[in-house]
Amino acid sequence: MRRVLYKMDTDLELIYRCPSCGRNVVTINSSYGCIVWGTRTFSDGTRIAQNRSEYPKIVKCKVCKTIYWLDDKNKIGERYCWSPSDEFYAKLFDRPDFAEFVETDECQKAHELMMEEEIKYQKARWVSEDRARLLSTTNDYQEAIDSMVYRNDEEHKFLRIWLWRAFNDNVRESKGAVLSENDQKIYNSNCRKLIELLDKNDIQENFMIAELYRNIENYDECRKILKTIESKDEVWVERVKILEAECSKQNPKVVEMKLLNYVYVVRCADGTLYTGWTNDLDQRIKTHNEGKGAKYTRSRLPVTLVYQEPYDYKKRLALKREIEIKKLTKAQKEKLIDLSTPTKMALANLQLLKRIHNDRDEETV
Ligand SMILES: [Zn+2]
Repeated sequence: MRRVLYKMDTDLELIYRCPSCGRNVVTINSSYGCIVWGTRTFSDGTRIAQNRSEYPKIVKCKVCKTIYWLDDKNKIGERYCWSPSDEFYAKLFDRPDFAEFVETDECQKAHELMMEEEIKYQKARWVSEDRARLLSTTNDYQEAIDSMVYRNDEEHKFLRIWLWRAFNDNVRESKGAVLSENDQKIYNSNCRKLIELLDKNDIQENFMIAELYRNIENYDECRKILKTIESKDEVWVERVKILEAECSKQNPKVVEMKLLNYVYVVRCADGTLYTGWTNDLDQRIKTHNEGKGAKYTRSRLPVTLVYQEPYDYKKRLALKREIEIKKLTKAQKEKLIDLSTPTKMALANLQLLKRIHNDRDEETV
């Protein structure tokens, strides 16, 4: 029987109060370990990870619609969440070694009971609290900018970056969406203002400037800025190449920055493990399962992805790591998989959060 580590992380919840009406919102300070499963990166710097959402810095009050910053001025307290976990298990099984369990039906049952308890607990709380959400529309960001919610250049910059990305979401999510004439005007003007606010001496922001010029179809200026980005870091070399290629295509739209390098481990049908490198993980797993991958996996299909480490554009590092992992014993590999994939508990928590969020959405509609 496989032993599974069920130790649960406790997150710190931060509580803020709306300065206009006094309604509370809650956000989480940390997130579950290092879940980078399936992260996608875009040319505007947006990163989308499946198991992880970005925590808001600015929110719109659900009750009075005031937009305000989640900062020390509005913070009224903090507390740990998911606290019933360890005690709950300990009590249920009357075991002091509650951090580690053997995977059994009774453990599964405990999960379900915990979820029920948590849902009851959370629902009771949410009568008086809202969960802090990112501003969701371009209108919200525009409203924040127009009403000068920002107090300094950094906050101004932050809002304009998020307005830019919110517009880009239209392209990112429902591919090929065309902005209305008016929105295009706002988009372009925001890009120009953002260019003024960004710092050319910061490589990250300078790259953003280049991308903004591309977005407003000023390809010459984009190329000019790209030429000033000098770095021995292969990450930047690759990023510059991607934008240059888009300039040549005269494409002004946000693009996904593929070319991530991954080291991955798959479990074969016979339980053995195979380690490889790829820059397109989904495609690579598909290739394996179509019997066109490595010789080793061909006779052991299907394979399942059990481990991955992303290396951004650092191919050399990824290849080095692939060799390292290949040299590990089976037991060492199993340990790596156990420690680094989201634990079952984290996934259970995630499902719980989703259920709670759904329940809450239904209540507030
Ligand atoms: Zn309010």
